[in-house]
Amino acid sequence: MSAKVAEIFETMEYGPAPESDKTAQEWLESHGRSFGHFINGKWVKAPKGKSFTTTNPASGETIAKIQLGTKADVDAAVKAAAKAQKAWAARDGHDRAKYLYALARLIQKNSRLLAVVECLDNGKPIRETRDIDVSLAARHFYHHAGWAQILESEFPAYEACGVVGQVIPWNFPFLMLAWKIAPALAAGNTVVLKPAEFTPLTAMLFAELCLEAGLPAGVVNIVNGDGSTGAEITKHEDIAKIAFTGSTDVGRIIREATAGSGKTLTLELGGKSPTIVFENADLDSAVEGVVDGIWLNQGEVCCAGSRLLLQEGIAEKMIAKLTKRMANLRVGSPLDKAIDMGALASDEQYQKIDRLVKLGVKEGAKLVQPGKDSCPATGCFYPPTMLLNVQPSSTVAEVEIFGPVVTVMTFRTPEEAVMLANNSRYGLAASVWSENINLALDIAPKLKAGVVWINSTNMFDAACGFGGYRESGFGREGGREGMFAYLKPKYLKALPAYKETKSALSPAKHVSAVEGVANIDRTAKLYIGGKQARPDGAYSLSITDKNGKLVGQVGEGNRKDIRNAVEAAKKAEGWGKSAHHLRAQILYYIAENLSARSDEFKKRLVQVTGVTPAAAQKEVDESIRRLFTYGAWADKYDGQVHTPPARLVSVAMKEPVGILGIVCPDENPLLGFVSLFAPAMAMGARTVIVPSEKYPLLATDFYQVFDTSDVVAGSINIVTGHRKELTKTLAEHDEIDALWYFGSDAAGSALVEKASSGNLKRTWVNSGRQRNWFDRAQSEGEEFLRYATEIKNIWIPYGE
Ligand code: NDP
Repeated sequence: MSAKVAEIFETMEYGPAPESDKTAQEWLESHGRSFGHFINGKWVKAPKGKSFTTTNPASGETIAKIQLGTKADVDAAVKAAAKAQKAWAARDGHDRAKYLYALARLIQKNSRLLAVVECLDNGKPIRETRDIDVSLAARHFYHHAGWAQILESEFPAYEACGVVGQVIPWNFPFLMLAWKIAPALAAGNTVVLKPAEFTPLTAMLFAELCLEAGLPAGVVNIVNGDGSTGAEITKHEDIAKIAFTGSTDVGRIIREATAGSGKTLTLELGGKSPTIVFENADLDSAVEGVVDGIWLNQGEVCCAGSRLLLQEGIAEKMIAKLTKRMANLRVGSPLDKAIDMGALASDEQYQKIDRLVKLGVKEGAKLVQPGKDSCPATGCFYPPTMLLNVQPSSTVAEVEIFGPVVTVMTFRTPEEAVMLANNSRYGLAASVWSENINLALDIAPKLKAGVVWINSTNMFDAACGFGGYRESGFGREGGREGMFAYLKPKYLKALPAYKETKSALSPAKHVSAVEGVANIDRTAKLYIGGKQARPDGAYSLSITDKNGKLVGQVGEGNRKDIRNAVEAAKKAEGWGKSAHHLRAQILYYIAENLSARSDEFKKRLVQVTGVTPAAAQKEVDESIRRLFTYGAWADKYDGQVHTPPARLVSVAMKEPVGILGIVCPDENPLLGFVSLFAPAMAMGARTVIVPSEKYPLLATDFYQVFDTSDVVAGSINIVTGHRKELTKTLAEHDEIDALWYFGSDAAGSALVEKASSGNLKRTWVNSGRQRNWFDRAQSEGEEFLRYATEIKNIWIPYGE
């Protein structure tokens, strides 16, 4: 019997508010509860193909049978996508915009069905699928309809990558599909997408919307399957770019699998994001921020606020408020409109979370689960969980639990908060709570995270790039930066390939053999921390001219020297925060000093490379000009202020990448070197540079230019020696954040991409193709600045 109104006023009990799943069930029936793949605009099902089932994690019921994509299915999808791509890219941007707009409208028209299907398949609450997943997905298609419309005028030097392979996870199945497909299509790519095994259904519904929108066959292809299907996509030779969202472990596998293939890659991986609450925060708002940060989507969120850092003075009060609030969170049927948390996506995920929580308790944490008794006893329901007394080194403070579990630690000072927050191998998001805006704005740039929410959490918008630092991956989704991930410069296809060359260097000959400098030690040392440093191994390498005559010697750097250079770069952290005007001044000063020594550098170029004096002069002049270019850019490559549809601004700051390794080419050993260090310097990146292996003297002669140009010690470090060996060390080094490879060979790029999978550093490689360093369209400008910076979005709410 239902309760009387008077009784309800007394108890304030929630009544059931179920959303009907009738339409969703009818839709499933219309497909006979069985799905194949969507390839070349048609449903494809192999009569004897293997299949798996997808279940409703809230009830355990089987929802539908899904076919498991094989290599042949992936081949067919890639073939269809490749066939459709040229015509799709050649369409007028306005034409593509109309299709994206149609998809946005169809998502809106089918929003309730999409929301219910997502609930059934994933277990997340209808309140979230309806108000967050589906509406943000529609917004993504609208936003990218816009980019398609203005693509030609906004990205005139760029073109589509080609066929794009996309692999997505089960936590936001439809939203991740939208984040992947909308920008890819806007840029003129065609796609082969694999949804997660647990949650393929909204992708199937989307395929129907593609048919309804009249999207040309082959533009969108969806192949169902598991990790093996994903692996077939990531290694496919005819795919030009891979976009992946999922775990860091699989991200690492994909980094290695695609190394050297020429495919571009963006990875949106795991996180362990901090929520920092200062003593002067509005605690009641902060409690709601924590609730949203960790219990949205049952905590199965890559940017979940899973580490709560409380300033000591308010820790007790905040924990008490939070415990009380946790007891009131309602966990139950995802289709009930008045519940806060639904079911976890699978029993597998339930077991993983439970195992980690038990481990946390074993390692000394105190378990707080006030809502445990009201959590449904059957189905994959896990209560909101808080772990107190957690040590920064304990497992639960380090690994991504990917469930409704928050770990709590305390701090005393803002410096300690920053240190604890950054004490993670991840760097996806952070949330800062303080009523002192000065404090919050001081902390935000210090956090190693791609997104920082001030007095807010889990805010997303298609216009604001989302993505991580460190092992949270690289690349951004959304906004202009997200579009770059699906475009490539037009000049690339015309670049000639390098031939494999043998190392030019030989162990040092006797010093007295050096022409004209008998008995004088003219061995150029390394340049580390603003000083010339002897190589650790105390060996030198001989440098010869075009006739094989000895012209000088350089230090033979090794692993230890790279480590010392990285240490020096770490100490020069202040360079990243230096004023842009200062960076410009230093670059102009370097240009001035190079100009004063123009003759000396010209002679050196003639001597070692054998070019004519006129060609050498041209290279020196272009190098001076390039320094001026980056002096110019230093204070002009600014961030942006986005205005998402809410009472917030999102400040997109361009931050230096941190410590950047650079491997220089042999051709144009002066201009190549300058073209690579100058943009990094302009953006405040600290560099460890391996100069041309064949002609390192152009870089070692530069030490004196740096010394006389106010270059900050440690902001630029140079290690001469064998390119391959030094490159491998740079790629494997965990404290190098990014690596550019422009070595003059065919194999180095693959080495860099493979060996960088350890800390998943961001790489930019030449894929064995030689650029023309004199051609300004390909060798200077914003492309270089983009690779020298990371975009961090800081969200700031306004109003009372
Ligand atoms: P995965 O990273 O394994 O899955 C993401 C996607 O990659 C799925 O479509 C998956 O297929 C596919 N995949 C799996 N292996 C490969 C491979 N070798 N090559 C190409 N694609 C592959 O995440 P899981 O679903 O297995 O979850 C494991 C853990 O990862 C979770 O417990 C959670 O901690 C974390 N996770 C993090 C996410 C994030 O956004 N940060 C998202 C999802 C998970 P399929 O699943 O269909 O087999």
